[in-house]
Amino acid sequence: MRLLLMGPPGAGKGTQAQIVAGLLGVPHISTGDIFRANVSQGTPLGREAKRYMDAGEYVPDDVTNAMVRDRLGQQDCTPGFLLDGYPRTLDQVTQLEGMLADLGCNLDRVLELTVDIDEVVGRLVKRAADQGRSDDTEEVIRRRLEVYAEQTAPLIENYAQRGIMAEVDGMGSVDEVTDRLRACLGI
Ligand code: AMP
Repeated sequence: MRLLLMGPPGAGKGTQAQIVAGLLGVPHISTGDIFRANVSQGTPLGREAKRYMDAGEYVPDDVTNAMVRDRLGQQDCTPGFLLDGYPRTLDQVTQLEGMLADLGCNLDRVLELTVDIDEVVGRLVKRAADQGRSDDTEEVIRRRLEVYAEQTAPLIENYAQRGIMAEVDGMGSVDEVTDRLRACLGI
């Protein structure tokens, strides 16, 4: 199965993506995780990405698209994959279509976790305080949520028109949300 999981930062998307990818037996591909790994390793890609990540802005599409194309071309993605955090712009949607066409496949499903924004901001502010994450000030968190809402609305419309989109309530315990995702996917 080729699946895309969407949702605002702090929706528990990463946790759910990892669980669902495990259930499906496909790799979990998180662009945020790949960028963070490059930042901590101090690679040229990491140095470029860090400037944008620290400001709560998106990394430029050309950088992100090239990175995803490389990852999807790896052999473990042949049976399927779960994308997390990509695509986030219409340009990325188009680029992804091109990559999948080159690989001779399509996206099967797109699921979006929906949340209560103020509750998510509260969660992320608390997590930042617990972990001392430099990229998680309240101002940056609100900016990232704004960017998410502005930029994903057209994507959601696009996938909804294609009939492969579903919304899943992301509030509640990890197990409750996983159960809803499983029900939606029939797994
Ligand atoms: P995430 O962990 O998914 O919230 O991603 C953390 C940061 O990585 C984002 O705030 C962006 O700066 C960057 N990033 C992750 N995925 C993308 C993407 N698809 N396009 C552009 N930037 C991204």
